[in-house]
Amino acid sequence: MREPSERPVRVLCWSERTEPVRVYPQGINGAVVQGLQEAGGFETRVARLDDPEQGLSEEALGSTDVLVWFSHLKHRDVADANVERIVNHIKECGMGYIALHSSIGAKPFHIVLDHRGSISGWREDGCPSVVSVCQPDHPIAQGLDRTFVIPQEEMYAEPFGITPPDELVLISSFGQGEVLRSGCCWYPGNGRVFYFQPGHEAYPVYFQREIKLVLANACRWAAARTGGAGNRSEG
Ligand code: ZN
Repeated sequence: MREPSERPVRVLCWSERTEPVRVYPQGINGAVVQGLQEAGGFETRVARLDDPEQGLSEEALGSTDVLVWFSHLKHRDVADANVERIVNHIKECGMGYIALHSSIGAKPFHIVLDHRGSISGWREDGCPSVVSVCQPDHPIAQGLDRTFVIPQEEMYAEPFGITPPDELVLISSFGQGEVLRSGCCWYPGNGRVFYFQPGHEAYPVYFQREIKLVLANACRWAAARTGGAGNRSEG
């Protein structure tokens, strides 16, 4: 773990809030906040689809270093003006963006990286998933064992229709031999984007120690506001 930086990283945790209350009483965004608070060094806020301006106003994004995003059923309900604002904040202002699990279908994720984020199969079987660290020296992998197991997860399969990641930190494997690039980093414009596959809403994945660690690491990494090829030194 790092020493807390002088200024806390300001993280806006957004969810459409369709996740089941029995698993996530405070939403997936609330669970992410809980993990970041335990880690320390973060100033967290929550926002949801039903908020005024969908929680994505200029004022909200202007005071955000990293936007953590969960959407699943309501990707299309996010207003195009808000999507455009998010993409602008990432590329121009260097805001970080972390897309969780089913957020492969989120409009900001598609537009900021110019890809469709399609997967070639999924299976909601609640079987274990093995997450392998493929770049152990990456800031997002700090403190992780070389592999760890998520006891219950949804399978997502390659081929994964993404712009090839600038850095690949994690690969997940599933019960019938499927694999997915499950921790991917990109540097669009001045910003940083991380995709993290774990976290099907029916299972308590975001309460797991390793998942909280990855998200805290990823929020610190994504907050750096130094995107772009050739400017990837880590601080
Ligand atoms: Zn899912």
